[in-house]
Amino acid sequence: MLSYAIAGSQYSMYKKPIEPKAPSRLASAQQRTDMSEYQELRSQLISMLEELDERLDKITDDVRHTDKPLEQDFSEQAVEAENDQVLDALGNVTRDELEKIRLAIARIDDGSYGICTTCGDDIKKERLAVLPYANLCIRCAERSEHKSH
Ligand SMILES: [Zn+2]
Repeated sequence: MLSYAIAGSQYSMYKKPIEPKAPSRLASAQQRTDMSEYQELRSQLISMLEELDERLDKITDDVRHTDKPLEQDFSEQAVEAENDQVLDALGNVTRDELEKIRLAIARIDDGSYGICTTCGDDIKKERLAVLPYANLCIRCAERSEHKSH
């Protein structure tokens, strides 16, 4: 056990450090490393996308009453109309979310993921962990929220 450990450390002493291939690698390699870090996230986003797509399909089916009879009395129709409004709103939220996820995947692909689209600052990792499709840093998000209220 001990001799193995010593042998191992001796080996690592003789091991050559990996040398940079070119001086210009810093910026581009950095970017590539960052994006490969997002590959797992990318597949998560894709499964979110598929899930939402399915959900949206169901919502759309519900709004169209594809599996319901048309004859109803007035109160049933009123409830139905109310449900439609809820489903409509839900559909809009889902569509909105779908669009954001699609954009996030596109940003991973073009290497701009994690960068605020308004000010160009890095979006904090903690924020991306909570909101993986965030395209604004917390400051810009707060600012745009204030604007719209
Ligand atoms: Zn920003």
